[in-house]
Amino acid sequence: MKKFAIAVDGPAGAGKSTISKLVAQKLGIEYIDTGAMYRAITLKLINNNVNFGDFDNVKKIVENTKVELVNGRVLLDGDDVSEEIRMPYVSTRVSEVAAMPIVRERLVYLQRLMAENTSVIMDGRDIGTNVLKNAEIKIFLTASVEERANRRYIEMQNKGVDITFEEICEDIRKRDTIDSTREVNPLRQAEDAILVDTTGKSIEEVVDEIISIIKKGVNI
Ligand code: C5P
Repeated sequence: MKKFAIAVDGPAGAGKSTISKLVAQKLGIEYIDTGAMYRAITLKLINNNVNFGDFDNVKKIVENTKVELVNGRVLLDGDDVSEEIRMPYVSTRVSEVAAMPIVRERLVYLQRLMAENTSVIMDGRDIGTNVLKNAEIKIFLTASVEERANRRYIEMQNKGVDITFEEICEDIRKRDTIDSTREVNPLRQAEDAILVDTTGKSIEEVVDEIISIIKKGVNI
């Protein structure tokens, strides 16, 4: 089987990671969650009390931080932070950090390295437009704001996190705005990406739809 790449982009809560993970399992390829990498850097900056406006300090931290994705877990300087990075105090600040060119430069470099020698499905905001511009398949996943917020709300409730539906809606709207209006590699559908709207669809339906798109475009 020839090496190939699948880029999945879209706004917060569209189902990118749930779907991409399942597609990766079905096809036996690597799944790379780039949002987790931005979240891990954000967690480190918060834990180190770094002022996000302090460029030199941010740069120093970013250059001296190890972010790894191992067996579905996220390691920050060797520590498993997979749960911590999903907490609201990280979610509400991650888009500010992801808008910084110094942060993007470093993470995009690492993401490209991860996709160099193996077939991957990579999800994020700028994968089809920037990180893997030559990906064989590009998907832009979306859903209504209400549905996206509702999915996150259920996820947070299941984890016992104290947050209201309105707070989640607000966070999602704010992140969508920052992500799609920032100067460096904003969230945008690539011209050659296929739009998949997941509103009202089950996870299985979306996974099947995407697998059939992939099978049409890649010889697997
Ligand atoms: O995918 P997730 O919602 O976990 O991503 C968290 C945040 O990381 C996004 O809201 C966005 O600000 C940033 N991000 C990004 N580029 C990517 C992936 C995520 O800017 N490729």
